[in-house]
Amino acid sequence: MCIFFASQSMVLFGFGGMPGTVELVIVVLTMWVLPIYLGIRAAKRKHYSPHWMWFGVHPLTGWAACIVLHCLSARVACPGCAEYVGQKYRICPYCQASTAKSGDVVDATAVE
Ligand SMILES: [Zn+2]
Repeated sequence: MCIFFASQSMVLFGFGGMPGTVELVIVVLTMWVLPIYLGIRAAKRKHYSPHWMWFGVHPLTGWAACIVLHCLSARVACPGCAEYVGQKYRICPYCQASTAKSGDVVDATAVE
């Protein structure tokens, strides 16, 4: 009985030299699911839509979307309408309110 379980675990965990099927499934799922998890976490932290991680239906595009989401700068909430906009915006594209913080110097002539 004990020898049977030992031989089964040797087959499962690839002690025979060839990688076992279970090992391959674990590695593939990790490489597939990990970028989706990390990408959704980054999207929520930076106020982007987590639906970008639908690119994760393919592992390669999942990693690409995950890397892009990690490289993007976080979006900030507009003081006028509470929509999240990029940090480069001085005027909110949704409500046209100024997104500059009270301490910022706003050059009114720069924005047409
Ligand atoms: Zn706004």
